[in-house]
Amino acid sequence: MSRFFDPRYNALAPYTPGEQPGEGKYTKLNTNESPYPPSPKVAGAVAGQVEKLNLYPDNTGAALRAAFAEQTGLDVGQILLGNGSDELLAFCFQGFCPAGAAFADITYGFYPVYSQFYGVDPLIIPLREDYSLDIHDYADLGRTIFIANPNAPTGIALSRDKIRDVLRWNPASLVVVDEAYVDFGAESALPLLSEFDNLLIIGTFSKSRQLAGGRLGYAFGCADLIADLNRMKYSFNPYNVNRLTLAAAETALRDDAYFQDCRAKVMKTREHTLKRLRERDFTCTDSMANFVFAAHSKAPAGLLHRRLREAGVLVRLFDRPRTENHLRVTIGTDEEMDIFFAALDDILKS
Ligand SMILES: *Cc1c(COP(=O)(O)O)cnc(C)c1O
Repeated sequence: MSRFFDPRYNALAPYTPGEQPGEGKYTKLNTNESPYPPSPKVAGAVAGQVEKLNLYPDNTGAALRAAFAEQTGLDVGQILLGNGSDELLAFCFQGFCPAGAAFADITYGFYPVYSQFYGVDPLIIPLREDYSLDIHDYADLGRTIFIANPNAPTGIALSRDKIRDVLRWNPASLVVVDEAYVDFGAESALPLLSEFDNLLIIGTFSKSRQLAGGRLGYAFGCADLIADLNRMKYSFNPYNVNRLTLAAAETALRDDAYFQDCRAKVMKTREHTLKRLRERDFTCTDSMANFVFAAHSKAPAGLLHRRLREAGVLVRLFDRPRTENHLRVTIGTDEEMDIFFAALDDILKS
């Protein structure tokens, strides 16, 4: 630490991203990206913007927001774009948590980090023993609620009806539903936006839209909430989404056939992967995401994680209480999953 660093941040414990090794070195099943490239139409759209890189992007993201409005039926004033959904989640912790935040003990690792970063008091609510979330723990909390749905790293989803109950039981609190993985089989809270002004939905193009490298997140909420978020954005970085990403994302969003095809493939591979893991004595959650969360009956996760890495396969280990014996394995292509299982079978044999 330099002598210039504000001592307020001495204890800051940053988020640890999954490893991003040099390309091609590993079968990469550790950070929940899509194994498929972006829509083939994206390259042309991006190329068309390269010669305009001398100019700032549209700070309102009008064309992409119009495409979202067409697809969702929302008004453009209910939509905001972010530099990844992490940026929008950060705005939520910074601007919408005067009475503190509430979230599960096992959930997206950035929630506790942002709480600390912005001095927000966190109420940590334990999941049940089986990692499911009991919505009865989420009544009258008097704080801003963050729910990842499906949850990470468990993949377990709540129905829309349960999200509705949380919204009804906390009419005076904002409920942020982080739908990073919703496209892999869960129910979006989108239809609830017409009923509730205390709902903010956060989404991303990193997992189901093949654009993790482009950094595009979005927020859907009532116009007042989006106006507040805009105030924060324009007090921080008006040009938060770059020109190439705006073009890439609009093209990806409009290529619905490609999107549907990719997410169907991921879901199919996930179901097959769950079956193969259970045959090998793994206990797995019922994941509705593009990853599985699995613990072996005998082999410790730390050992599997290390040996898989030595065999060229990266998966994620959550070395914390309640999750230390689990691996989170991103769903790759069928070929990548075959490589994973070949390495795994070698390890389990010995
Ligand atoms: C990956 C992830 C995000 C962040 O996505 P970006 O848009 O890439 O910043 C947010 N929430 C959850 C639950 C995630 O898993």
